[in-house]
Amino acid sequence: MKPLPSTLATCLLFAGFAASFTSAADTTFYGDPPDAHHPWAVHDANRPQPPVVQPGVRPGDAPSDAIVLFDGSEAAFDHWKHEKPADKRKNDWLVQDGSLICAPGSGYIMSKEEFGDCQLHIEWAAPTPVQGAGQGRGNSGVFLMGMVEVQVLDNYQNPTYADGTAGAVYGVMPPAANALRPAGEWQSYDIIFRRPIVRDGEVLDPGALTVFCNGVLIQDNTAIEGGGGWRKRKALNRVFPDKGSLKLQDHGNPVSYRNIWYRPLRPQPLDGGTDGRLSAEATLAKRAELAAIIREDGASMQSIDKAFRLLESLIYEENESVRAEADQLVAEYLKHLQALSGQALEDEKGTALKLVNALHYLRDHNFIQNDDARFKQVRDFVDAQNWKKR
Ligand code: MG
Repeated sequence: MKPLPSTLATCLLFAGFAASFTSAADTTFYGDPPDAHHPWAVHDANRPQPPVVQPGVRPGDAPSDAIVLFDGSEAAFDHWKHEKPADKRKNDWLVQDGSLICAPGSGYIMSKEEFGDCQLHIEWAAPTPVQGAGQGRGNSGVFLMGMVEVQVLDNYQNPTYADGTAGAVYGVMPPAANALRPAGEWQSYDIIFRRPIVRDGEVLDPGALTVFCNGVLIQDNTAIEGGGGWRKRKALNRVFPDKGSLKLQDHGNPVSYRNIWYRPLRPQPLDGGTDGRLSAEATLAKRAELAAIIREDGASMQSIDKAFRLLESLIYEENESVRAEADQLVAEYLKHLQALSGQALEDEKGTALKLVNALHYLRDHNFIQNDDARFKQVRDFVDAQNWKKR
């Protein structure tokens, strides 16, 4: 097929893009309005677009917004520090052949970056030749915020207590499956961590861990219960700060790590996030904020364009003077319509129908009275033109 001339192709492409963008974005006066726990309407055009993230090329590769803690380079160790001072440790962790390796006697290392709720990707390999048994074989650990251990252990054909096997929330919950590869092979953990939220001694959220081991789901929204320990349960009333260092454990075995990155998670409503079910108070605050933005945008407009923005703002927050101004603008626009004829009137058809549509929406969702006089006037006018509504 002969290629289209480039300008024509560009025009067609642009037209297609513009058409799809308009239909996707033009959802004002459309879905169910905000309610007591949702500041947004369904399909709300004012709802922010998600940020664009460039995914990694291969599974496990860091996406564009990830914070990379170890990429195999010597320089990547700058993201880490030893927990123990030099005079209190016998060894240092080392970077060798692209791996970060625990040297027994070196103690934990901790990320200099502190973070809380996150998606964490980390790969590890147990040492070969295989040595030791039970908890003594290829033992290390990934400590979220330095407080909750996702166990690292070579329990491939090496039984030990279940809540201490690889992928266990140590001392709390065994993994749902043992999806390990043999020692020497790389294993991956993809972890979704929500920290416990405890305020004034009250547990508002027990925290949760979801873990995939080599792509197999092994922890499914597991409650953290304070994070376990060796032979001990920990109460959830201990202080969980908002963030902390990621720690990797020295348990006396030269376990290797590579490809470590994380992404902070979208904040939950408890953390001031605006997605999900909000408290009535937070919903009202967000709705007021949205109404203010829309009204400010409308302030630079005239006539019916301004009326649309003011009416839209009422969906988020009632305001008597805004309502009166919008009604006045609609009245003036109707007067303007009534004075038109022929092509000039036809040119207003789209806007007039949009106005009827908006008023229908506002009536259907109880923002204006069923017998609202202005709505009736506009509807009667449009009906008289035989213009198709909605
Ligand atoms: Mg361990």
